[in-house]
Amino acid sequence: MIYFKYKQDHNVQVNGDGRKVLYVDIQPEKACIFNCIVCTRGQTKYQGEWHDFGPHEESLADLRAKIAEVKPDIVEIYGQGDILTNVHLEEIIDCIHGEGKPVRLITNCYLLGIGEHMRVVCKCEEVVGAFGIVDEEAFKKYHRPLPELNFSAEKQTESLVNFCNNYKGKFKLRVFFSKGFNDSDETVAKIKGILERLTFDSLWVISTSKLTVDDGRIAEVARELHADE
Ligand code: SF4
Repeated sequence: MIYFKYKQDHNVQVNGDGRKVLYVDIQPEKACIFNCIVCTRGQTKYQGEWHDFGPHEESLADLRAKIAEVKPDIVEIYGQGDILTNVHLEEIIDCIHGEGKPVRLITNCYLLGIGEHMRVVCKCEEVVGAFGIVDEEAFKKYHRPLPELNFSAEKQTESLVNFCNNYKGKFKLRVFFSKGFNDSDETVAKIKGILERLTFDSLWVISTSKLTVDDGRIAEVARELHADE
């Protein structure tokens, strides 16, 4: 069964920098480490550190054919939930590299600097990652991690620091803000302190689409964090 999907009807788009991008969604259903209250994908169906969607050989063959057909400059892999939980992620990255194309990966940041996840993600030429909730109580209420996995805001920071110390590719970092969870001056200062421990190529500040933070506050925060336009 082929379960990879290509973004909307446009399987290739041109980046701002002129590169042709092939966008491929590698997850047929939502699998994520979190079950966030703001998630636009609804409840997490498969919540945990790893998930296996089953045989993927036909999907890999389809991806190879798609790359040969559209000849992108880069392949972006994303998916419902967090693709770092996908047990086949490394094979998918290797498949794209086997066709001579660089890989950009989209993820939340939690698993980036952790064990096997970090080893796999370090194979990608570009990573786009997002985080934002840095207070422990808010972290539990917002991300609703499985208690048995003992995830915490502090471990998220250490994971990010570890990743930045090891990753050699291009890292585009996004910090998201949600009303009442991380938009206070105090929390913004805490986020600023974390950013000072990280290395990245660009920084975007955004509001989540639920629990929206207004544009004026986002602009203030962006200035405070020295974010890119
Ligand atoms: S990390 Fe992202 S995909 Fe996963 S539950 Fe939260 S908002 Fe949804």
